[in-house]
Amino acid sequence: MLSKIRRTKIVCTIGPATSNRRIIEKLARAGMDCARLNFSHGNPAEHLRVIREVREISKRLRSPIAIMQDLPGPKIRVGKIAGGSVELRKGATVALTTSETMGDSHKLPVGPKDLPKYVLPGSTIFLSDGSIRLRVSETTDTDIICKCEIGGLLLSGKGVNIPQLKQTFETFTDRDKEFLSFGLEHGIDFVAVSFVRTAKDIRTVQSFIRERSSENKAPLVVAKIEKKDAISNLDEIVRESDAVMVARGDLGVENPVEEVPVLQKMVISKCNANAVPVITATQILESMVTNPSPTRAEVSDIANAIFDGTDALMLSEETAVGKYPIECVQVLDRVSLIAEEQLLSKASGSNLEAPSFGRVQDAVSKAVSQISVDVQAKAIVSPLDDGELIQKISRFRQGPVIVGISDQERILRRGKIIWGLSPVRTRKTTTSLRDLLDTSVEALLKEKIIKTGDRIVAVRDKLKLSRQTGIMLFVAEATGKERKAQTLAG
Ligand code: PGA
Ligand code: MN
Repeated sequence: MLSKIRRTKIVCTIGPATSNRRIIEKLARAGMDCARLNFSHGNPAEHLRVIREVREISKRLRSPIAIMQDLPGPKIRVGKIAGGSVELRKGATVALTTSETMGDSHKLPVGPKDLPKYVLPGSTIFLSDGSIRLRVSETTDTDIICKCEIGGLLLSGKGVNIPQLKQTFETFTDRDKEFLSFGLEHGIDFVAVSFVRTAKDIRTVQSFIRERSSENKAPLVVAKIEKKDAISNLDEIVRESDAVMVARGDLGVENPVEEVPVLQKMVISKCNANAVPVITATQILESMVTNPSPTRAEVSDIANAIFDGTDALMLSEETAVGKYPIECVQVLDRVSLIAEEQLLSKASGSNLEAPSFGRVQDAVSKAVSQISVDVQAKAIVSPLDDGELIQKISRFRQGPVIVGISDQERILRRGKIIWGLSPVRTRKTTTSLRDLLDTSVEALLKEKIIKTGDRIVAVRDKLKLSRQTGIMLFVAEATGKERKAQTLAG
């Protein structure tokens, strides 16, 4: 019996509720593809312990799990409040102050020290994910004096969003640099950059990485789309980034919240067209932070993100501090399987809005996708070492499982945020296509992705044969005894 393979990937934020071996293993068994370490919280020593646990569990379960380091960026937070929280009332005057003090209903500590210089009188400040709204009346050297327009309960450490500033902060902060150096040292697979505004922000991080790690160890860079500027510069950012995150939390504070669904669709479709993996994040299963089952709205939102074309779904507080982390992964798994069935039944072979054909890989990916449907292949196999072709095939959202093979664990982990991709480890680097076919058929039979008699399509591009570059494509059938591939066409 072949197992049903979930195509949508699951990213889990590891936090106090999940940062021990037993729970991480449960998350992995439930289907976590990628563990996210949120460097806005916790300390490096704690994150390192999690990195080691994840690596150890992944090895033991013989299943690659990626690690994503999420950098805080220039996020402003409220400092400590006396008693842990304060009720801000509509109409009250409250000062955000950079002087060291305990917060109360009149004054709230914030950093950095020079923040008042950046703030425009008359502008809006949001606290606590946008639930509290302040209007700036005036600024002094140390204080930003505001009137509270929408009140509410404010907890220590909550986020401060100021969508319009006189001058923008550097996206990649000194603290981020320190954290990223630490991440590089410990072999993280992805680094997520917060509050990206331009493609240059991504290039800055990429060159920081290049200066410090060899090409085959460099993590992939994920652009978090949460600022208005990122939306304006989206084309360029998508082109420069290795992956993208629709960071709906801050996106819905920096922009009117009612625009979130439209922006989500826009970002996802741009990523699909460019074959850039995209993660949809925040409030995916918010109610499950405290409840064991999801709301109808959450389940619909998950399915709709998959219909939009998201590659992965991310859990934040749900797994970091929630009461039901394992149940959350199980819900994502079940909802994804049903939504994917629906998505795949609708796939027609050209359901993607014409990505700039004229580029060879675009044409090849489309042809491979079409052939695999026509010959009713169960799997498409391709080396993952240069994941570009595989990503391009994935965006057609066709029925066959896409199998990325590599003999390197690190390369396989990179595939853990790509929709439909099952990374499979082969024993050695495959050189000839014959070899690629045999090793993959053997691995696929072993992993129970295909059975004897099933067809596969194997493709390899950028092949260097007798000094010529080419593409090789084979249709093959898995034979019985020898567990080898019998070529049908190629
Ligand atoms: P955060 O990013 O959880 O690091 O803030 C995600 C978001 O803003 O949605
Ligand atoms: Mn954010």
